Amino acid sequence: MTDTPARPANTAIRSTGGAKAAGVRQVRPQTEGWQQAKDESGRPLLQFASPKRGKPPVHLADLTPEARVERVKELGLQGFRAKQVAKHYFQHWTSDPAEMTDLPAAGREELVTGLLPNLLTEVRRLETDKGDTIKFLWRLHDGALVESVLMRYPGRITLCVSSQAGCGMNCPFCATGQAGLTRNMSSAEIIDQIVRANRAIANGELGRREHPDERVTNIVFMGMGEPLANYARVMHAVRTMVDKKDGLGMSARGITVSTVGLAPAIRKLADEDIPLTFALSLHAPDDELRDELIPVNSRWKVDEVLDAARGYYEKTGRRVSIEYALIRDMNDHPWRADLLADKLNARGRGWVHVNPIPLNPTPGSVWDASERAVQREFVRRLNDAGIPTTLRDTRGKEIDGACGQLVATEEDQQQAAEAAATA
Ligand code: SAH
Repeated sequence: MTDTPARPANTAIRSTGGAKAAGVRQVRPQTEGWQQAKDESGRPLLQFASPKRGKPPVHLADLTPEARVERVKELGLQGFRAKQVAKHYFQHWTSDPAEMTDLPAAGREELVTGLLPNLLTEVRRLETDKGDTIKFLWRLHDGALVESVLMRYPGRITLCVSSQAGCGMNCPFCATGQAGLTRNMSSAEIIDQIVRANRAIANGELGRREHPDERVTNIVFMGMGEPLANYARVMHAVRTMVDKKDGLGMSARGITVSTVGLAPAIRKLADEDIPLTFALSLHAPDDELRDELIPVNSRWKVDEVLDAARGYYEKTGRRVSIEYALIRDMNDHPWRADLLADKLNARGRGWVHVNPIPLNPTPGSVWDASERAVQREFVRRLNDAGIPTTLRDTRGKEIDGACGQLVATEEDQQQAAEAAATA
């Protein structure tokens, strides 16, 4: 984030014309000095295509079970060895040939490194919550940096995974969005975050253990990146997560895909017939504000994304979550809570719940979280209108590991370079 220009301090909160009632403060991204990056045609800059970079090495987790067999044969061994290696990787979370004593010693090393090339190098980890939260900083094969956040809760363990290095969606209040898109992550790079987390848990590295065979139970695609902008790779990763026979065997319901609102991709996701949990980052119920706050709103408007979200519920029966970062004087007005409730109720009852999240600070950002009383009022209005609403406070703020805070800083780059030099 260090390469973004400094923004003015949050002193000049002005009343502007957009407010619905006299005396109501209406902060907008632009009035606070934020400049929306534009493309050549003057539309908000969005990066959908991944910049061309060297592809990460192909890994077993990128392949279907059939393709894994083919790959093993190419490496000169019998096809059934693929299942053995897959079991080591997906069930014992190891990529170390020395631990795979059921494989013939001759050619083992070549087979295993051929199928399970190293994808993530740990640069650093930060811990908080007495060890119950760990933020991992990973270096990818080409030097790109990504993060994942592992969180222990009573009865469940959640991993927040990245799906892209950086993000092309350019949301002003999100540190990742402001850093731009480096590249899409491969399916195996996504999966390996889980495998590495499971390994850390098995080694007793995540707080106090509740039982001996713990592992990650919940996945949220709320790390770096816009998962639906990397659709095919994310979906292959999801299928691998839920595959009981040849993958991680996780529950689909425990996997949350969170999107800024790519409507066509939401409709496609609904047709996949996988009962994932779906979350929409709405943040404003009116296009006037959402156009500025969520640049992708220039393509797909509030009503269209809400219709797509409702469609997701109809197809899957899964209750949709609406995420709403509460930003002081920007989107936290009582009338916006009412408008949000109206728009959700207009599409039926019982299909949706709302998760307001007080804005987490990001480097150089000029916006603040809403005041406590304002947060409470926002939640109350939605609940009173019959929309189940719970305020969510995100974990990991102290280590910049909370929603919207994941970005590789200059210091991270420095550490990664030093680690690479000594490796
Ligand atoms: N690109 C996806 C997933 C990544 S962000 C998406 O937008 O949904 C995960 C969640 O964190 C999103 O709801 C996002 O809007 C929210 N978020 C981003 N910046 C934030 C911030 N500074 N404070 C609180 N939440 C934030």
